[in-house]
Amino acid sequence: MYDENNIFAKILRKEIPCDKVYEDEFSLFFKDINPQAKIHILGIPKFPCTSFSDFLKNADNESISFFFKSVQIVINQLNIEESGYRLITNSGEDGGQEVPHFHIHILAGEKIGALR
Ligand code: AMP
Repeated sequence: MYDENNIFAKILRKEIPCDKVYEDEFSLFFKDINPQAKIHILGIPKFPCTSFSDFLKNADNESISFFFKSVQIVINQLNIEESGYRLITNSGEDGGQEVPHFHIHILAGEKIGALR
């Protein structure tokens, strides 16, 4: 069940601000408030979905395709394709997800290190 009051839903409704880096019809990308790397961007689809699986199951193909292409647009905008980056999506309790609106973390700008 999607929680309309989660913090990213509020950002999408512009009820709270974000440090935006890219926006289009399907997606919004902004800086993480508590960055874990020199570059730490969050990308969210505008479609209300709790997780990666929920997004893939319930959004239409156009929204899914445009969202993932927008991740690449942001990678190009940040000029990190050559130096490298890590994409992460946390899902559910075991995945350590805090905000229940599907999001992708883009980490870059330095060596990110081992996962654990
Ligand atoms: P996750 O654990 O994958 O759900 O990640 C949630 C992320 O959202 C964390 O990295 C937080 O630092 C980040 N975050 C929480 N609130 C905000 C906010 N208002 N603006 C930007 N990032 C946020």
